[in-house]
Amino acid sequence: MKAIFLDRDGVINHDPGDYTTSLTEFFILPDVISTLVKWTELGYAIIVITNQGGIAKERYTIENFYDIDEYMKAKFLEAGVNYVETYFCPHHDAISQCLCRKPHSGMVQKALARHRIDPQLSVMIGDKWRDLDAALGAGVRGIKIDVNQSLATVDLSKFSN
Ligand SMILES: [Mg+2]
Ligand SMILES: [Zn+2]
Repeated sequence: MKAIFLDRDGVINHDPGDYTTSLTEFFILPDVISTLVKWTELGYAIIVITNQGGIAKERYTIENFYDIDEYMKAKFLEAGVNYVETYFCPHHDAISQCLCRKPHSGMVQKALARHRIDPQLSVMIGDKWRDLDAALGAGVRGIKIDVNQSLATVDLSKFSN
């Protein structure tokens, strides 16, 4: 299987420059759903890989995160996106260390193993270099976009690393 790994904030939903703390602050960017449908038709599984350090910092709760994740999943599935799973890191290095928070590769490695994904056929799309570093540590190349950039502008053959 091949997959497209996506960062969440600033890639799927509008990142205002601070944490997205609840569903009322979660706005899926234009072109995201239609582009993910297109990539689904090309045979990719869609997997979300997101740092949620605001949970460790108690800016919001894990329930707030799950509310957003359920909503996002519903939007993807009703449009026909081959959404597989979200991996999230609830830690923050200001509070405690872990092996999942990007740029660590833990979440990507877990996804590759669990879903038997071929890293060489797969891509990570993120708006921060730490997203790409996390993927590259697991053998997955990346495409760096700007925060809140339209996914419709992404060329899957043009890697940033
Ligand atoms: Mg981001
Ligand atoms: Zn973590």
